[in-house]
Amino acid sequence: MDNKAFFKLSYGLFVVTAHEDGKDNGCITNTVMQLTTTPNRISLAVNKANYTHGMIERTGRFNVSILSESATFETFKHWGFQSGKDVDKAAGITFSRSDNGIIYVTEGVNAVLSAKVESMVDLGTHTLFIAEVTDAESLNDTPSATYAYYHKNIKPAPERPKKKGWVCTICGYIYEGEELPADFICPLCKHPASDFKPIE
Ligand code: FE
Repeated sequence: MDNKAFFKLSYGLFVVTAHEDGKDNGCITNTVMQLTTTPNRISLAVNKANYTHGMIERTGRFNVSILSESATFETFKHWGFQSGKDVDKAAGITFSRSDNGIIYVTEGVNAVLSAKVESMVDLGTHTLFIAEVTDAESLNDTPSATYAYYHKNIKPAPERPKKKGWVCTICGYIYEGEELPADFICPLCKHPASDFKPIE
């Protein structure tokens, strides 16, 4: 199996946000796609390790902020590399709130969708949410950031570490040690050991 083949899938990148009991939260995902147009329906897969996952599961509501090529690495770090368990992700960022009461990101974003969950599929590590789009708004015409664009233009080039170890190809996290445990999960972006490569 050539795992590099998966990088050629043309994913977009999104901040998925939810609201529960007065708390706002969100995470980064590359797994939103449109399924049908009548009604307008999307799918979204979220890792169960994300705090946002439980919020969507319990409330049945979420927003999708579609990241554009003007998004900065700070945006990815803010939403992707820290957990809503530990920090208030709505603090210190610019956002708006849509009619469903959920925040959406307004910087580095070109459109927003509001969605209501219709069904859930348990995929083990993730849940696949199938949801009806209840509202949609285009914010500007900056092209959407693809996963390939993120890797090429947004993610900073990793500094050359002197230590032996493994580097996460998604976020740049460094694991120090000869052997990377097969069940290792990146503490920053939650990607598995298969997304790490040895430091050369
Ligand atoms: Fe990572």
